[in-house]
Amino acid sequence: MDMQTSFLDRLFEAGLLIDTGIDGLYGRSGQFEEVIAAFERLIDKVGGGDGAEAMRFPPGMNRAFFEKSGYMKSFPQLAGTVHSFCGSELDHVSLLQCMEVGEDWTKGQEATDIVLTPAACYPLYPTVAKRGNLPKTGGLFDLQSYCFRHEPSKDPARQQLFRMREYVCMGTEEHVTDFRQRWMDRGVEMMKAVGLDVTIDIANDPFFGRAGKMLANNQRDQNLKFELLIPITSAANPTACMSFNYHQDAFGSKWGLNLEDGSVAHTACVGFGLERIALALFHHHGLEVKEWPANVRKALWG
Ligand code: ATP
Ligand code: ZN
Ligand code: MG
Repeated sequence: MDMQTSFLDRLFEAGLLIDTGIDGLYGRSGQFEEVIAAFERLIDKVGGGDGAEAMRFPPGMNRAFFEKSGYMKSFPQLAGTVHSFCGSELDHVSLLQCMEVGEDWTKGQEATDIVLTPAACYPLYPTVAKRGNLPKTGGLFDLQSYCFRHEPSKDPARQQLFRMREYVCMGTEEHVTDFRQRWMDRGVEMMKAVGLDVTIDIANDPFFGRAGKMLANNQRDQNLKFELLIPITSAANPTACMSFNYHQDAFGSKWGLNLEDGSVAHTACVGFGLERIALALFHHHGLEVKEWPANVRKALWG
């Protein structure tokens, strides 16, 4: 049995994650949720003084916005769409017949106007663009959403539906890169406070296909993405528990996000992988929260 299977099995046995029969789709116990809630309160405490505007979107987004985002150009392999039955009573009869004989009943499903949210910040950009120019102080937003990515895996840290807490900053290049650096420093401090050893490394997104290799190299060469890594399932390949992304003016020009003086806004986002952080805590401090080191419990529960 490899390491990954055994950590996942131990999480199932402890009841922290609940098997649904699908890799990467898990229920979570009350205890698991309490750890996430406590860590989110820590995030609130650290980020609370910045005056971010909080918004919460459901885990589905407007398909037209998703199409405009260009997600299908970069990550078609990860996307999830919502389809529904839109037929007549006659169609319904053949649908049921199809299910009865075990044929593919999903072929007749039609695309709805909703797709699953791939990252918490995707619904934000068109929302802010609709308001008109950003104020002189720029924009700062606090988001949290379940996100979907079609990447089934036995690694409990790679789920298909997971929560991402994000801060998104809009403003000048200097403003948003300062924001990103501040959260890199804060992220390291926060993880230290809960007893987790981290490294920060340069990273790239998994752009699809051969052309994607060039996009990934470009992203690395320009220091656009950093990750905060914590060993969970493998010491050799630690897991990204936070990401720090600088989009330059790519989203600003795509969505028409402008500053008060009419110039195109630069944007950056910082994401916490909430399940991954909880899993890192369980991996390092054990599956019994009441046995965690006192300083870690104090940092999380006061
Ligand atoms: P990875 O390199 O591990 O695939 P990523 O680069 O795709 O991660 P981002 O797209 O930057 O991650 O997403 C922001 C954060 O969401 C990550 O730092 C991570 O903590 C979390 N995350 C990403 N994908 C998953 C997943 N499949 N399951 C759980 N958490 C995830
Ligand atoms: Zn983001
Ligand atoms: Mg990924």
